[in-house]
Amino acid sequence: MSKTGADQGVTPLALVALGGLALALLATFVFPFRPALVAGLVLVYAAGGIPASLRAGLALVRHRVLAIDLLMVLAAVAAAAVGAALEGAVLLTLFAAAGALEARAMGKARRAVEALMALRPDTALLRGPDGGLREVPVASLAPGDRVLLRPGMRVPVDAAIRIGEGEIDEATITGESMPVRKGAGDAVFEATVNLTAVLEIEVMRALGESTVARMIAMVTRAQAERAPSERFGDWFGQRYTLAVLAGAALAYGVFLWLGYTPQSALYHAATLLVAASPCAIVISVPAAMLSALSAAARGGVLFKGGAALETLAEAGIFAFDKTGTLTTGRAELRRVVALEGSEAALLALAAGLEAHSEHPVAGAIRHAAVARGIQPVAVFEVTAVTSEGIAGMAGESLVWAGNERMMARMLADAGAAAPPLAALANSAETVVWVGRGPQLLGAIGLADGARASAPEGLAALRRVGIARQVMMTGDRREVAEKIGEELGFAPDDTHANLLAEDKLRLVAALASEARVAFVGDGVNDAAALARADVGIAMGAAGSDVALAAADVALLSDDLTRLAAALRLARRTQRIIRANLFFAVGAMVVLVAGALAFELPLPVAVIGHEGGTILVVLNGLRLLADPIRSDRRPR
Ligand code: ADP
Ligand code: MG
Repeated sequence: MSKTGADQGVTPLALVALGGLALALLATFVFPFRPALVAGLVLVYAAGGIPASLRAGLALVRHRVLAIDLLMVLAAVAAAAVGAALEGAVLLTLFAAAGALEARAMGKARRAVEALMALRPDTALLRGPDGGLREVPVASLAPGDRVLLRPGMRVPVDAAIRIGEGEIDEATITGESMPVRKGAGDAVFEATVNLTAVLEIEVMRALGESTVARMIAMVTRAQAERAPSERFGDWFGQRYTLAVLAGAALAYGVFLWLGYTPQSALYHAATLLVAASPCAIVISVPAAMLSALSAAARGGVLFKGGAALETLAEAGIFAFDKTGTLTTGRAELRRVVALEGSEAALLALAAGLEAHSEHPVAGAIRHAAVARGIQPVAVFEVTAVTSEGIAGMAGESLVWAGNERMMARMLADAGAAAPPLAALANSAETVVWVGRGPQLLGAIGLADGARASAPEGLAALRRVGIARQVMMTGDRREVAEKIGEELGFAPDDTHANLLAEDKLRLVAALASEARVAFVGDGVNDAAALARADVGIAMGAAGSDVALAAADVALLSDDLTRLAAALRLARRTQRIIRANLFFAVGAMVVLVAGALAFELPLPVAVIGHEGGTILVVLNGLRLLADPIRSDRRPR
């Protein structure tokens, strides 16, 4: 079985080989008719043998790799040479059938990765001729269009920066994880991520021109990132194939020396070749892995590769971001405290600032303004400060909205205005302070509820043995404690007031105790997602930066899928172990039989290919078990 067996057209060829074999068997056992037998054999050798020889030849010439196809073709030809052409035909047919099964599994996984690409933004903010912003489908963008990019947004098409300067994460294109600083005139590429600044870009190429190339690059990259056990399979397959070839040649010599006729020695050497071929061993890992990856994808959990699945199976600690991960991120406005002017004016200023932000808090403030019919103030030259807030220019003055760190950065102080704000400070609400320069204008209190699936999702994880659960948030301690208590986090494992680098440090510390999975959604989670053994991004709700940094994307926001994914990962690991054990065992038995008991070639063929097909089917069982929600209807 070879990795190159995933070519298209494998299934029809396998069917032709099957038809030819059926004809040959009928012409042998049911109505002995030599021309029909010969026709059947020719069909099988052509449909099964020629493509396998081509693949083996290509692998040898292009990649200097000994494909297992080579062993199979050699064995079949040797069988034909000693008058056992029918046995050779059975071998080729079963080999082609196993290859077709493998190709199907590969195709499923490939589609799963293509689904990952669908996370590219569908819409973009087009700057109209009147200066206004309009959300338009990315496919409708044409060269020359101006598009606004908020921090955290993915670049929708290849473009050049016209206004603004900021960091771009180009890991999707270059694989380079350090962000690149870019300003006016620089080119930005589709699918890279705008990290910090608000940028206005000019479209250089329409969508259709670059998507396909990038999609293929991504699929091959995801597949190139093989799981450790897969790499072992490849390594083992290579050396083992060589050893089998040498062993069969040696056995041929020994059989001759023992006094076998050349015919019989060749027959036995071919039997040994088939018995010892590692098809089942090489296919056992990818068959299970690819099935699991596509079962997971159908359940809305996209793994970027087999390695992530293998690591998840070993996870011992789960760490969670709060806002947007454990909570809905759709916070509700609870109160507005204006120290100066009206509440409406404060909200208008805050909404004007937050119009430029992707943060869940920003969305809540925008919605509240819309709901009250408040027109946002126009704010320009905006800078987002991760885990703090946002600042920009309204008219001549610097305005800002954010948490206490932002307030301190602006040298503002809530102390003087204590009485009206005391109630807010004591509440378990997320507080957004709003100010102009060093002057505090007021504050907005927001409350964000836990996701409906959060309690059950965490409980499901505990049930599968994840006792250690940690919350990490950039929000205030009061808010963290309230949600933490509600969801059953230990007080020691509830961390508040964190910056992105604090989350990173905490994850690194946890990683020294056990394998850590980190679940997050925000720009400020990207570093922790990348550092964790398995980073899991909230796909639909999360920022593109988080998605790019993670190993796994959760497409739905249903947190019970985490435990389901963990169970699937563990089950995959068990099936892989069982497959390897079975494959090695079957091979040992067959080789012993071929050496000690003059095993007939057909028995070796059926034992060998049967074992391969069993292993593939055992792996494919994982397909039948898509990840499902554990949520009980409420
Ligand atoms: P979390 O880690 O819980 O996802 P973040 O680190 O993203 O939270 O944000 C931490 C805090 O920073 C928020 O609770 C909020 O008070 C403040 N903040 C971040 N971005 C903004 C913004 N755009 N506007 C106002 N406040 C913000
Ligand atoms: Mg968050």
